[in-house]
Amino acid sequence: MPDVDALVVGGGPAGTAFARGLAERGARVRVVEEHPRIGRPVQCAGLVSQRVVDLAGPGGYVRRPIRGATVFGPSLRPFEFRADTARAFAIDRAALDVHLADRAAAAGVEIRTATRFDGVVRRDADAVTARLTTADGTTEETTAKLLVGADGVASAVARAVRLRRPVEILPAFEAEYPASPGDPDTVEVYLGRRFAPGLFGWWIPDGQGGARVGIAADADGTSARAYFDRLRDHLAHRFGAPLANPTGFVVSGIPIGTVPRLSTDRALLVGDAAAQVKPLSGGGLFTGIRAGEIAAGIAAQALEENDLSAASLRRYDAAWRAEFGEEFRRALYLRRLFARLEDRELDAVVDALGRGGLAGTVVAFGDIDFPTHVARELLRASPGLMRLLPKAIGAWVAPGVAYPAPELDPGRRRE
Ligand SMILES: Cc1cc2nc3c(=O)[nH]c(=O)nc-3n(C[C@H](O)[C@H](O)[C@H](O)COP(=O)(O)OP(=O)(O)OC[C@H]3O[C@@H](n4cnc5c(N)ncnc54)[C@H](O)[C@@H]3O)c2cc1C
Repeated sequence: MPDVDALVVGGGPAGTAFARGLAERGARVRVVEEHPRIGRPVQCAGLVSQRVVDLAGPGGYVRRPIRGATVFGPSLRPFEFRADTARAFAIDRAALDVHLADRAAAAGVEIRTATRFDGVVRRDADAVTARLTTADGTTEETTAKLLVGADGVASAVARAVRLRRPVEILPAFEAEYPASPGDPDTVEVYLGRRFAPGLFGWWIPDGQGGARVGIAADADGTSARAYFDRLRDHLAHRFGAPLANPTGFVVSGIPIGTVPRLSTDRALLVGDAAAQVKPLSGGGLFTGIRAGEIAAGIAAQALEENDLSAASLRRYDAAWRAEFGEEFRRALYLRRLFARLEDRELDAVVDALGRGGLAGTVVAFGDIDFPTHVARELLRASPGLMRLLPKAIGAWVAPGVAYPAPELDPGRRRE
């Protein structure tokens, strides 16, 4: 008899959401987390949607509603939108992780911190055997019917069970400042090659008078730190005061793309380990927690049927695709397009948004979890924007079309 039904590697949001979901269905679940404290170190800007709060359940981790954003093009001309109601929340990310882990523990999950997964010793017909190392260097073996990789972007579980990694991992660098000028109700987004080619830079209020400043950008030879320094210096200039005394730094990577398979014999991946991250924003809390829930339902069925084969666990891949497949395909398409835009084209997009008076469209349709909806509405509402983009996107945007994803590759970078 294996030690546990499921061994979950990683005590982040995806891992504890999975663990809770499975334990609530009666399974014996153990989570191992290599760090001594859940939620630390923090690796996040802490901006989430209402859906995350709904999935995680209310708690003291929610700090402040966010009502709008200012998007700066490469020439620093802004496009602003503001809503009357909350469009997102600034959270205490470490507190969210602890909250989710507490809920998992309350459902019966055993959580072991300071315990690292070091590899798979065996995977046979009855169980998978994992090698774990504790803080004092002791190694032990744990057997489980199912091994779950919730171990983030550099997933050791994915490597151990030979599931392919996402092709693109964007380097990210962020700092937390305990005090910052700026509008605490809105976020700022910076586009363009100077601060963040390929994605964007951000200034996000932390809900307590401070802010998280960061960038995620293409790995283009310039370090993420160098891009971050430029953004921090720009903000100091803009605010007329330096951002001082950072209380923490994040150096990490954001997986972008889809992995061909989320599961194999006696193993599956959730969260960043499975690149379940929104391709247009790099946000992974909603998708990771939801993936944990979806996977828990399938894993419970598979345990009940005593069939943890790759074929049985494929139901998880299918369920994930049914919920997020179209959105991810569209978002990846738009992201590839976006990443190819030159600075002058990005400026033209931001200017067209401003000229078109499209702030209302963003407020009406903006949904940070499903951003392709607002992208489509913006394209529909602005012929000026459409002219900047390839014809391939026309069919997707046309009125009356039942939201098919663009199938065409956006092609090489336009000169
Ligand atoms: C700079 C930055 C800012 C971000 N901002 C936002 C944001 O504002 N909103 C948002 O929605 N998303 C944001 N994200 C993305 C978000 O942080 C991730 O998508 C989310 O943390 C994924 O959760 P997870 O549980 O899959 O992985 P993680 O939160 O990375 O958790 C994985 C856990 O596994 C543990 N682990 C790793 N290897 C092992 C091992 N071998 N043994 C045991 N334990 C192990 C790690 O210590 C970690 O605790 C940001 C990411 C970055 C890099």
